[in-house]
Formats: sequence, structure tokens, C-alpha cells
Amino acid sequence: MAKPTVAIVGRPNVGKSTIFNRIIGDRVAIVEDKPGITRDRIYGTGEWNGRSFHLIDTGGIEISDDEIVRSIKVQAELAIEEADVIVFMADAKSGLTPADQEVAGILFRSNKPIVLAINKVDNMQREEDVYEFYNLGFGEPVSISGAHGFGIGELLQRVFEELPPDTEDEYEDDVIRVSLIGRPNVGKSSLVNAILGEERVIVSNQAGTTRDAIDTPFEKDGQKYVLIDTAGMRKRGKVYESTEKYSVMRAMKAIERSDVVLVVINAEEGIIEQDKHIAGYAHEAGKAAIFIVNKWDAVEKDDKTLQEFTRKIREQFLFMSYAPVLFVSALTHQRLHRIYPLVNDVAEQHALRIQTHVLNDVISDAIAMNAPPSDKGRRLKINYATQVSVKPPTFVLFVNEPSLMHFSYERYLENKIRAAFGFEGTPIRIFMRRKS
Ligand code: GDP
Ligand code: GDP
Repeated sequence: MAKPTVAIVGRPNVGKSTIFNRIIGDRVAIVEDKPGITRDRIYGTGEWNGRSFHLIDTGGIEISDDEIVRSIKVQAELAIEEADVIVFMADAKSGLTPADQEVAGILFRSNKPIVLAINKVDNMQREEDVYEFYNLGFGEPVSISGAHGFGIGELLQRVFEELPPDTEDEYEDDVIRVSLIGRPNVGKSSLVNAILGEERVIVSNQAGTTRDAIDTPFEKDGQKYVLIDTAGMRKRGKVYESTEKYSVMRAMKAIERSDVVLVVINAEEGIIEQDKHIAGYAHEAGKAAIFIVNKWDAVEKDDKTLQEFTRKIREQFLFMSYAPVLFVSALTHQRLHRIYPLVNDVAEQHALRIQTHVLNDVISDAIAMNAPPSDKGRRLKINYATQVSVKPPTFVLFVNEPSLMHFSYERYLENKIRAAFGFEGTPIRIFMRRKS
């Protein structure tokens, strides 16, 4: 299911990021708790009435332009292009300003639903200052206060009413959905062209049904695939498309719709922080992943270079030790033929289901070899395990007391499960449920 996108737009200092943080709430904290994974602050998930949506704080997208008015315009254009609903924010404390009028002018020309929110309405008196904003022509404003948390529910309700209906996923189960993610210039488009350009690939030109994705369905050796494009790959030239945060946001949307994510790294430049963020999203989203180290032709090599690079990847992406690594060149086509078989393999592992009795045999053996942790004389007892879902494979352990589980023991069990069943290329999830 593709989630709709909501963007917050407005001139600087009206309180966009304050409201953004209020809406995404404690989700951020939960995610940031995991070591090695950082969350981009401008992009999050919100929820209201059981519907979740992507939320973008366009103010956080830095545009390398000194002129504020120009930056605001670019951010507003971005929101128009990306969002299903736009929250246009102004501020009652400073009143209606020419910069607000600028934003309004741009938004007015779009045909996206717009919810006008006036922030910093911290007290009853300020309510009177909200009237002048009717002049903007976007109907009744919602009064909110990021400082006190007033009006957020009402704002979300208004947004909720404008959300488009959920779209069902448009592909059959036997189609492997693949995306290539990575920083600008790592060679994503070159790789796409090279792997699609190969003989015996039948590309059908049917346009993607999702608004902002350019999907390419194709078939090779009897297997159906869809290449989920991160748009930035083929459509270029907009100012914001070169910004890091924008490309991360684009990547996240593609990841969400994929089964298998090809994390492309530039061999010439090595691994940088941004690569880790991008890969981290694939991991968090529970997708199968393959590291594709591209531009291998451009690296000066000896007999240790490949191992050394693999070691660096393992060291930098500790949380993704399950993902295979492939060294390729889009330029010379070196090892590109290995991509398809690997994609097929990890897609299969991602959807693998283990029979309950077999799983429980493995868990029992693991427990027998290495007893579960105990605390203050109380030992964790694992009564029963079952796989509750696939994509990614997810397991539930029924235990006497979930808090007795240790990270290291969970790791141990994960390793035992992997040793027994493989699961190469896919994250697996283990949850604890109390049942004695
Ligand atoms: P942005 O530039 O639009 O993202 O604005 P920020 O969220 O960074 O907020 C700008 C300033 O306004 C900060 O100093 C906030 O603490 C303050 N602020 C945000 N919401 C409120 C509010 O509801 N009332 C008041 N009085 N100040 C607020
Ligand atoms: P994207 O921004 O990730 O889509 O990257 P592009 O596919 O546009 O490639 C960026 C640049 O790297 C272009 O100049 C490509 O010609 C070059 N490039 C891509 N793949 C390779 C490769 O395998 N080897 C070398 N030497 N250059 C490459």
C-alpha cells in the first residue's frame, strides 16, 4: 500500500519543524534508539484515525540560495510536486507578511488540497489575530500552537479529510519489485540502463500507476520484475533534486514499494555517512538488500582490494551483515549478469516461510546449547516460536517475561535461525510475547 504524502510549507520561523516533530511524535525517538541508524529529520510518518502518511517538513530542505524568498518558492514547488495534501503554515504572532503572500501565490496555482494552519495561537487573545489570514483565500484557518500542542488534532483531522483514498499495490505477488538507491552520481541510472539494455529483457512500456514513480515492468528468463525508479534518476534539473535530503526522501518512497533494494555504492569514493543513512532505511523498512559496489573498473586493484572493500562494508554496515556484496561496473558491464540471480535469491529468502515444528527444533537446540539469560534469579523461558509473516520474515517467541531477553541473546537466536535456514539478503525480525 503506498502511503499518501503531506508537506508542511511556509516561510522560516512560523514553526514548521516544531509542528512536524509534534506530528511524528515519539516515533523518531524509537527509531533513533537503534545504533548505527539515523533518521532524517525532515521526513517522517504521521498517523491519524488509523491512516498513516508521509510527512515532509519542506523547511528542512536546504536550498543553496541566499535569497530567502527564492528558497521558499522552491520549497513550495517541491511540496506541490510531492504532496497529496499541503499544510500551509503562517504565524499569528507576526501576522500576515509579504513572504506569506509569496507562498500563497505559488500554492494558489496548484490544484492540491491546502489546509491553512496558523501557528503560535498560544492564548485566546491571539485568536483574533487569525482573522486576517482569511484574506489568503484558502478558507478557514486552523489555529494551532506548537508550543502548547493546541489544535494539532484538529489540524490532522482536516488533513485526514483531504487525503486521497489508499491505493492498493498494483503488482501481482509473483513480480519482484526492485529499486536502486544511493547517493547522486554513484551510477544508478547507468546501472538501470545497462541491466535493462541487456538482451532478452522484455520491457513493457506501461506507465506506472503511482503518481510520482516511473515504474518499468520487465521480464527476464521467465521471471517478472518491476523496476521502481526513484524519479531523480531520469528526471533532472530541478534545484532541490541535487540536495541530499531530497534524494533521501525520494529513496525512501522507492524503498517502501520494493521487495529488493540494490544499495549502490561508488567504489571510487568509498563509503560515506550518507550511504549508511540510505542503506539504514532499507533495513528499517524490512526489505531484502544487496550492496552493489559500482565503478569497480575505475579502482586500482591488487589481489587484496576486493576483500579489503568487503571488509569495510561489513564494518560500516554492521546492522546489514545479511546483505550480499557484488562488485560491478556499469561501464564495462563487469559482473552485471550476476545481479539477476542474486535478486531472485534474496527475493526468495525474503518471502521464505519456515514450518513451525522445524523452527521449534532449531530454537530448542539453540536453548540447549546456550541457556537463555536470567536476571535476579529469574530465567527467560522460551516456550514456543512461530513465524508470523514474511517480507521480512518475522518471528514471535512466546516467553515467560519479555524483559528478560537480552540484545545479545536475541542476536544469538537470530544467528542460529540464519545458520539453519539461510535468509541471505533479508533482515529478520524477532518479537517477544508474554505467555507462560
Ligand atoms: P520553522 O522555521 O518554520 O521550522 O520554525 P521552528 O519550528 O523552527 O520555530 C521557530 C520558532 O518559533 C522557534 O523558536 C519555536 O520555538 C517557536 N515556536 C514554534 N511554535 C510556537 C508556538 O506555538 N508558539 C510560540 N510562541 N512559539 C513557537
Ligand atoms: P546516478 O546519479 O547515481 O544515477 O549516476 P549516473 O548513472 O548518472 O552516473 C554518474 C557518473 O558516473 C556518470 O558520469 C557515469 O558515466 C559514471 N559512471 C556510472 N557507472 C560507472 C562505472 O561503472 N564506471 C565508471 N568509470 N563510471 C561510471
